Amino acid sequence: MGILHDLYAVQLSDIAISQAQYRLAHLPESATYQHAKSASANAITELAALDKRSAEAGAEITGLEIQAQEIDSTLARLNKQMKTIIAPREAEALQHEIATCTNNRSALDDRELELLEIVEQCDKESVVLGSRVESTRGALSSAEQALRVARATVNAQIAQLAEQRSAQSLVVSPSLLSTYDAKRKHRPDGAVSKMNGPTCSGCHLDLPKSEIDRLHKLPADELPECPHCGCFIAL
Ligand SMILES: [Zn+2]
Repeated sequence: MGILHDLYAVQLSDIAISQAQYRLAHLPESATYQHAKSASANAITELAALDKRSAEAGAEITGLEIQAQEIDSTLARLNKQMKTIIAPREAEALQHEIATCTNNRSALDDRELELLEIVEQCDKESVVLGSRVESTRGALSSAEQALRVARATVNAQIAQLAEQRSAQSLVVSPSLLSTYDAKRKHRPDGAVSKMNGPTCSGCHLDLPKSEIDRLHKLPADELPECPHCGCFIAL
């Protein structure tokens, strides 16, 4: 029954490969990397939004200043005009116009003040966010590096196991290997078991002594199988 012991060794490699592939898909470094990636992206997005808010406030301030200059020159013109007017009715109309301009000018100043506060606040937040962008970028780069190393380590293990598996399978006939592969599709935990005393290691059920004796006496071309789970048994 040496052939089944050889197949059992192949199976051990296959299980180790599956476990390594599972580890590769569930690396803690991968979760850390994803976390660092979104933290960095969030900081960049927030900083961009802040810059946009600040730029919009700045653009509005520029617009207000142009309007303020226009109002100032209108006011200068109206005040000049005022000095030349004699008729009280005209003077009253002009005064009303001057008052409206002055109110508008004052509203512009109030709004400009508000906007300057927004820009100032944005500048302060920008310093904090800027350093967050830097630190999250640094963390992302470290996480990326750690993930690369972890992946390379597991991939090297898988390559080594695959090499071991192919060396082990050289001593197993191709037809038995394909039967084994077919069995393993239904039983990923193992298509070849061993006996632990009277117990099949594949299904953990006991075999009657008479059955074990029968399996031991099978002709060389018949491979022993567990009557419960159908595994080959490497006796
Ligand atoms: Zn079994």
